[in-house]
Amino acid sequence: MKALIAAPIHRDAIKLLEDAGIQVVYKEYPSEKELSELIVDADILFVRSKPLVTAEVISKAEKLKIIARAGVGLDNIDVKAAEARGIKVINTPEATTRSVAELTIGLMLSVARKIAYSDRKMREGKWVKKEAEGIELKGKTLGIIGFGRIGREVAAIASKGFGMRVLYYDVYRASPEIERELGATFVDLETLARESDFVSVHVPLTPETRWLVGEGLLRLMKKNAILINTSRGGVVDTKALIKALQEGWIAGAGLDVYEEEPLPPNHPLTKLDNVVLTPHIGASTEEAQERAGVDAVRKVLELIKELK
Ligand code: NAD
Repeated sequence: MKALIAAPIHRDAIKLLEDAGIQVVYKEYPSEKELSELIVDADILFVRSKPLVTAEVISKAEKLKIIARAGVGLDNIDVKAAEARGIKVINTPEATTRSVAELTIGLMLSVARKIAYSDRKMREGKWVKKEAEGIELKGKTLGIIGFGRIGREVAAIASKGFGMRVLYYDVYRASPEIERELGATFVDLETLARESDFVSVHVPLTPETRWLVGEGLLRLMKKNAILINTSRGGVVDTKALIKALQEGWIAGAGLDVYEEEPLPPNHPLTKLDNVVLTPHIGASTEEAQERAGVDAVRKVLELIKELK
């Protein structure tokens, strides 16, 4: 069997494949044309958020059985075209949960304690001790929108690690056991917006969640509230957020994801001192990448056994 690895995958994952007797061909981020040629005799294709696996590419594959995405989103794969040809598509949504949750807490702390702002000013030679006064997390209310894998991990760290009160909103209510274990209370979206000192977004981007955090919700939030978004940029209406930050409807924001990525240079968000920005690094940790690669290979090896 032959596996085409079309994106950087952790070395331990590649070793697992080789140990299973699978021939490995590595080409990092091939163009559509290159991928169309390389895929002809591959049995398995590994990708990350790139390269694009279009219907055109899939139509060239003569032996392909599995497309494995090391990571979560399947936006770069034409899943319908793959499934129409009996090709299985798998991903590893659990692998990045902890890393995104920890970045979320990092952004909360960075905005609350003005860490990035202080760092910027120090480099300009300014000692902004007074301006950089912040707030503690302990005793504050965290509102989590989207109580799935990441939302729950954030809830656990916030309630157990920082003594925060946790509210959550989701289309599905968690079981009483989980609510008790994570110290989280189910509320409607308006209550969450009104009562939270921090609001953190963890829903997928769907037609229902696009601009879920828009002018209406931002205006309901407390004036001293901080918004964190490590989910997808399109869940927040960026124009409304900029207005909210400029006009003081809320106090600050920590963002890892944007409606347009990469964030264009000189974007209005980069001009605001009460915002902390990171370049979509939620899953960018050694551990998450190792888990994503190794979990993807394990799932592939299981599937191969079933397909035999
Ligand atoms: P998940 O599927 O485990 O959880 C999502 C939750 O959102 C579910 O509980 C679901 O019921 C809820 N939900 C869906 N639609 C909703 C709606 N309209 N209203 C309220 N709740 C709704 O997903 P996850 O693994 O926790 O990931 C959450 C988000 O994090 C996703 O958007 C994912 O793309 C993003 N993510 C970002 C990074 C990063 O690098 N920043 C990395 C991984 C994942």
